Amino acid sequence: MSYVDEIYAKVVEQNPGEAEFHQAVKEVLDSLKLVIDANEEKYRKMALLERLVEPERIVSFRVPWVDDKGQVQVNKGYRVQFNSAIGPYKGGLRFHPSVNQGILKFLGFEQVFKNSLTGLPIGGGKGGSNFDPKGKSDREVMAFCQSFMTELSKYIGADQDVPAGDIGVGAREIGFLYGQYKRMTGLYEGVLTGKGLNYGGSLVRTQATGYGLVYILDEMLRKNGKDLSGKTVVVSGSGNVAIYATEKAQQLGAKVVALSDSNGYIYDKDGIRLDVVKEIKEVRRGRIKEYADTVSSAVYTEGKGIWNVACDIALPCATQNELNLEDAKALKSNGCFAVAEGANMPSTREATDFFLENGMLFMPGKAANAGGVATSALEMSQNSQRLSWTFAEVDAKLKDIMVNIFAKADDAAKRYGVDGNYVAGANIAGFEKVVDAMMAQGIV
Ligand code: NDP
Repeated sequence: MSYVDEIYAKVVEQNPGEAEFHQAVKEVLDSLKLVIDANEEKYRKMALLERLVEPERIVSFRVPWVDDKGQVQVNKGYRVQFNSAIGPYKGGLRFHPSVNQGILKFLGFEQVFKNSLTGLPIGGGKGGSNFDPKGKSDREVMAFCQSFMTELSKYIGADQDVPAGDIGVGAREIGFLYGQYKRMTGLYEGVLTGKGLNYGGSLVRTQATGYGLVYILDEMLRKNGKDLSGKTVVVSGSGNVAIYATEKAQQLGAKVVALSDSNGYIYDKDGIRLDVVKEIKEVRRGRIKEYADTVSSAVYTEGKGIWNVACDIALPCATQNELNLEDAKALKSNGCFAVAEGANMPSTREATDFFLENGMLFMPGKAANAGGVATSALEMSQNSQRLSWTFAEVDAKLKDIMVNIFAKADDAAKRYGVDGNYVAGANIAGFEKVVDAMMAQGIV
């Protein structure tokens, strides 16, 4: 059995019930086969893959808090510190009822390669809780965040582990978490990113993942003789990533016609009015359905089905495994020629293979959504230097980073004879830097 297959079998055996983690490891290992086979003896001796697939540390803790009725609630909290070979752990916190250790391990594993691809000195981590902020009052969210941070604060620090937002963790949650960290430690340091602008946050961080997604999409299209102008785009989700992907796609001349949330999707033949979406989602924390109550050209459909909407380009920006083989076939048969992932692992393995086998342009999440963490690393730099850069400065750096990520993925794919396969390219390019650092640092 090859080294890669042997390690995958071990991962499945030793991490039972963690399907998303298995899926993420398999995708990366499959892409790395060529690289690993060429260095098998050296890597085996150093147990390189065994170390790569095992988190350096997982902290799991109880999060008790009191709801508005005076009832004590208890949630699970986690931080997965996956790999610090190239820098302090960096990765978001997710608050969603579906969160468990396996999901956070998949996200932490992906984060290692993503952070490497940005070219910045950040290792990979991820954390979160099965707490659901939806329907909670601000006071309840604060009580939860304070309890969560009381425990987490023991394990993080500006040069150790720097969490950020993810699903269910936006500006409000980061503010409560930061306040509690400061209170617990007495330190005013850049321990979290995505902070408010008046207490150490960076301009463009809010927009970064969505804007970055469209910058790399644009680069991929241009390098393949196409462009965004006049194209019809479908975006899933209507949270942070989806909103700012829509904004940048519109700025570059595309027409975004659909958005969704976990209840259903809207289709607006005239193009999405983002001012209406922002008012519903960012101000009122409402449901996407309300868009169709305000905009007469829009239709709301309950349930899944957004991938049946005809488009040239699809941007899945909601959650893992939201786009399966059937969806991929529907996209292709309706004329879609490019897919770029704003979410982490939104396409199932079968869907990803379908895109690649059918000549569609496909940019995987670990490259396409790296703009968020890259801008977080820029926030860390500004915090350490006690500086704040202008919107234009950060935006230019973000664009540069995304163009560079494309170049790295493209180059690695070409070097290994799989030109145009940006899944393999991103995995290989991300892996090379981490592995060089791990080999140099000895058995740790
Ligand atoms: P938000 O919480 O702001 O928005 C998430 C959106 O996805 C909401 O519209 C939500 O709908 C929808 N969604 C979440 N879970 C599900 C589900 N199980 N089924 C259907 N829809 C769902 O999160 P973000 O926009 O920040 O994150 C979206 C994706 O992007 C995630 O995969 C995240 O890991 C990834 N990402 C985010 C980054 C960031 O900087 N924020 C950076 C890199 C990646 P509803 O409101 O109904 O739950």
